Order: sequence, then structure tokens, then C-alpha cells
Amino acid sequence: MPSPIQEIKDSLLEEKKVRLFIKREDLIHPIVSGNKWRKLKYNLSKAKEEGKSTILSFGGAYSNHIHALALAAKGMELKSIGIIRGEETLPLNETLSYARSCGMDLHFISREEYKRKTEKDFIYKLHKKFGDFYLIPEGGYNLEGSKGCEEIIKEIDILFDLVCCPCGTGTTLSGIIASLPEGKKAIGFPVLKGGDFLYKEINNLLPKNGVAQNNNWHLETGYHFGGYAKWNKELLDFTDEFEKKYGIPLDQVYTGKMMYGVFDLIEKDTFAFGTAIVAVHTGGLQGVRGITN
Ligand SMILES: *Cc1c(COP(=O)(O)O)cnc(C)c1O
Repeated sequence: MPSPIQEIKDSLLEEKKVRLFIKREDLIHPIVSGNKWRKLKYNLSKAKEEGKSTILSFGGAYSNHIHALALAAKGMELKSIGIIRGEETLPLNETLSYARSCGMDLHFISREEYKRKTEKDFIYKLHKKFGDFYLIPEGGYNLEGSKGCEEIIKEIDILFDLVCCPCGTGTTLSGIIASLPEGKKAIGFPVLKGGDFLYKEINNLLPKNGVAQNNNWHLETGYHFGGYAKWNKELLDFTDEFEKKYGIPLDQVYTGKMMYGVFDLIEKDTFAFGTAIVAVHTGGLQGVRGITN
């Protein structure tokens, strides 16, 4: 079932003659973050095809990806192993206790070790410890992850000019770029500080998707609010106001930052009259209350 698309009506949008639609990926599943389903879909089917019975992946203690993987793997009768950054603190937070309740095997490693998560040696050691498994990189950053996100765009049945989405690893944006119809553009909003590194990450994924590097997209790196999982009162006031006005909840780690950026750019007359924007609400509402600055 395609996720719904919803138009926002606002006096600012009327004044600037811009139309804004929200692709409600947050409604895909009541518990699990929207774009994480998309990124897991082809990974899990590939794991099955390859005859794997265990999936291993990486994430932080509040990871939407780990949370989604635990449930999705359970649903497909696959074992899951989560390699978690940092020491175990008890009691487990909601994200991790949920993952464990789905049967995920949690292993905590130091931040130093965690940095080695893409190194061959390190993965070899994991195989020695855990045996055979299908590996999904942190955040679902691979071709299969990006392929799943192409479906976000393919589902859109209205006329639009521009797609906006928040970026962590850039996997979702890669899928969006790869599936954009001719003449359409995409803007990514990195939620990490120094988001320019994502140009390289995304340009690494695109050719794997069969897409030549192209210039139908760019990043707006000025809306990170201090870095990953950092925010301020201005952002929280914005997300509160947004929910009150339109009845759509935003999280302050991903979707709040993107939407703040979208409204700011509209206010600054960045978009031509008549532009129709689709902002992808990637979900991310689990765990939000538990994160503290
Ligand atoms: C993980 C996540 C993202 C980031 O997606 P990437 O594909 O890693 O860029 C964006 N929004 C939400 C809600 C997420 O949970």
C-alpha cells in the first residue's frame, strides 16, 4: 500500500505561491520508522534468497534502523544481531528493549571499535564470533537500501517539481535521486554537522543504482541545529507549532530539521512561484522522547 500524500495549507505558502505536500512515510507502520522499512525490504529478501538465517547490523542506542530491523527480521523468521555503539546501560532504553523483545541479540562495543564497522578485518572477526550472517551496513547504506527508497517516488501520483528529505547516511536521498523523473529536483537536509561529506557518500551509491552522477539534487547543510540528535528551543517550538497547526507530528532528530529548512527556504523566496514541493516525512517518531541532549 502506498503511503498517503497530504497537502499543507498555510498563509505563507499562499503568499509565496508554493504548494507543499507531505509524503506520509510515518504512516507506513504504527511502530517502525517509515524509511527504515523501505531500506530493509530488499536487504531482507536478498538475505532469504542467499539462504541466510541471521542478519547482523549496526546502530546507536536510539537507532531507528536497529528498532526496525529487529521487528522486520522477526516477521520473516530471521535471527537478528544488533551491534550497538557504546556500553550497555541498564535498564535498556525503549528502543533497545523493544529490539530485544523482538528477539534481537544485542552486542555492545566501544565507540572506538564501532568506528571499524566497515573494515574487512573487523567484519571477519564478527564472522568468527557469530558464524554466517547477512550484513546490513549501519542505516541500511547499500544498494538494496537505496533501491527500496526508489519506491517512495514511484508511488507519487501528483504533479511535483521538487522532493525534500532529511539525510543521515544519504541512502534514502540516493534512492529518491535515482528514481526522479526527468526535470525534477531533490534537496537533502543533513541532520549531522558538516553534512557536505554526504556528497561523496551519495555519489558512491548512485552508480550502483545504475544512475550516472547528475546535478538534479543538492544538500542544504545549514539546518543541523548543532549536529546529530542536537536541537534547541526554536526547533522544538517549530515542531510543536507544526503539529498543532496541521496535526502532523515531527521528530526533532530528522523530520523536524528538514521541515524547518523547507519553511525557511520558502520564506527566503528560494522557490519560484508555482513550485510544488513534496517533503518526505520519513517517520522517526519512535525513541524520540527518550533521547536527551
Ligand atoms: C534513519 C532516518 C533518516 C535518514 O535516512 P538515511 O537514509 O540514512 O539518510 C531520516 N529520517 C528518519 C526518520 C530516519 O529514521
